[in-house]
Amino acid sequence: MMTKVKTCPPEMTIRRNGAAIGRAPDGISTAPFWAEILLESEHEGENTVMRAMVDPDVITHWHTHPRGQFLYVLSGVGLAQRDGGPVEEIRAGDCVWFAPDERHWHGATPTSTFSYVSIQAVHNGKSVHWLEPIEREGARS
Ligand code: MN
Repeated sequence: MMTKVKTCPPEMTIRRNGAAIGRAPDGISTAPFWAEILLESEHEGENTVMRAMVDPDVITHWHTHPRGQFLYVLSGVGLAQRDGGPVEEIRAGDCVWFAPDERHWHGATPTSTFSYVSIQAVHNGKSVHWLEPIEREGARS
């Protein structure tokens, strides 16, 4: 049986503000965050694009993107770390490139919200692979 693979629209398409906002799935971050799917695809090599709005102190689990990820910070103060690297603070206007299959996480600082737009291409039907939670030292409250 053929399964229809979701692709980017075949022609110019306007998606109106707020048309596809929802909660990010459970089990990928320390708490849910808002995610707006701006461009959706499961087709090899196509881009997916989302806008995320993250509450203070909410961070993702470790994960990778098979074709890498471009992240542009819209507001607030975020944190990002690749495995083995320092935790970096990122602010509105900063952008980050995570290389294909580079283990990393990102999220909001304990005292600031964090919003961003991210672009990640599809490989084998996926644009992200979720891994284990971050182990954080000490209690942050
Ligand atoms: Mn990522």
